[in-house]
Amino acid sequence: MDEGFAMVFPFTSIKDYVIELDDEMELFRASVREFVEKEVEPVAVKVVKEGKIPEELYQKAIEMGFTGIGIPEEYDGQGGGAMYLVILMEEISRVLPSFGVGLLVNGLFTYPVLAFGTEEQKKKYIPPVARGEKFAAHASTEPVAGSDIAGIQTTAKKEGDKYIINGRKIFITGADKADFFVVSARTNPPPEERRKRWWGISLFIVERDWPGVEVGSRFDVMGLDGEHPSEVILDNVEVPEENLIPPENEGFKLLVQTYDHSRVGIAAQAVGIAQGAFEKAFNYSLQRTAFGRQLMAFQAVSFKLADMLTMLQTARLLTYWAATLADKGREEYVFAASMAKTYATEVAEKVSTYAIKIHGGVGVDKETGVEHFLRDSIITTIYEGTNDIQRLTTIRQLLKKSFGIDVLSM
Ligand SMILES: Cc1cc2nc3c(=O)[nH]c(=O)nc-3n(C[C@H](O)[C@H](O)[C@H](O)COP(=O)(O)OP(=O)(O)OC[C@H]3O[C@@H](n4cnc5c(N)ncnc54)[C@H](O)[C@@H]3O)c2cc1C
Repeated sequence: MDEGFAMVFPFTSIKDYVIELDDEMELFRASVREFVEKEVEPVAVKVVKEGKIPEELYQKAIEMGFTGIGIPEEYDGQGGGAMYLVILMEEISRVLPSFGVGLLVNGLFTYPVLAFGTEEQKKKYIPPVARGEKFAAHASTEPVAGSDIAGIQTTAKKEGDKYIINGRKIFITGADKADFFVVSARTNPPPEERRKRWWGISLFIVERDWPGVEVGSRFDVMGLDGEHPSEVILDNVEVPEENLIPPENEGFKLLVQTYDHSRVGIAAQAVGIAQGAFEKAFNYSLQRTAFGRQLMAFQAVSFKLADMLTMLQTARLLTYWAATLADKGREEYVFAASMAKTYATEVAEKVSTYAIKIHGGVGVDKETGVEHFLRDSIITTIYEGTNDIQRLTTIRQLLKKSFGIDVLSM
């Protein structure tokens, strides 16, 4: 037997293929489901049609403690790790994916602060976000650089005990509500050597009401109704040096680790979308009759439903497995999360397309509440690292960790 593939990378034992769920998680899932059925379901179609999420919905979710999930109790959070975030995101996205993103995008702020920030930064910025009193966002993408994180042009120039930040960020989710931002900026130009161009980027915590910070126009994007991203303009913003998330110049690595961590949440969002679309299609195929029979009686429909269910369950298994590895602190979760994100988001796209078709004409009517799943699914294949970038990560991890081959040297 070839040792390299004794058990496909990076696992050596069949015991690594485990999903760990417990009774508390099941109780949590049931409470999120109840909240979603009672508070989100009744307004979902209105949100999709009007493109606005009611403020009261956020307040009710805050009262449930959802903004504190994944944040340690010492910073006023509710605790819980990757699996809790997955459960929350999946259950909300089953009905209204845009609300899930609006609520959980805070994590792209809290993760880098909690993982790399100073104790002062954690104490000052995390508790109000965990309690839902403040909102936070993550501003990295620029007109010239999305996947190519090292290509950003925003600058942070050191002057005495502060940095002066100038630049423009685009597609920033939750910017319109945010009080705090994590902002990436170049504290040094990229080194000449191409392989080192990641160096010189640093992360900063920036407050919305500081002079020079402006939340600009909203992007009228496809999908995620009610949660459209905005541009953020930074014009000579003075940032105290204590707001640099250390280490200086190593921000690229912090960003990559942040996205590694949050990626499983996007996989969960996609699983929720696929679940919601599947349920709608399943119910409709029992209700609707054509040629004197229920749609379910036609194998063209029931076989589609069987394929949708198989893809959905596979995506869920992959996502829960990645979350289990994350909660165990296993480094292989990066690999599992990339596969889960790629697979689940593409499943969401397929399942929601089939769901619309099973509905026939009413499938494309917003009133039915199914077409938005397709629109919502497309963006999941793009943000937090496009699926092409996930495929790069998957194969690079396989080559590097299992065979010691650096793809960049090929
Ligand atoms: C609704 C929405 C919300 C967003 N929210 C945020 C946010 O909150 N904060 C934030 O900072 N950003 C956010 N983004 C930005 C998002 O993360 C980027 O759009 C994404 O990373 C892709 O970058 P890009 O748009 O510049 O595309 P590009 O990087 O220009 O990619 C274009 C195409 O080229 C492919 N490609 C690029 N490089 C490679 C490569 N090396 N190998 C193979 N294929 C490649 C990509 O897969 C893609 O198909 C959001 C975007 C949207 C649309």
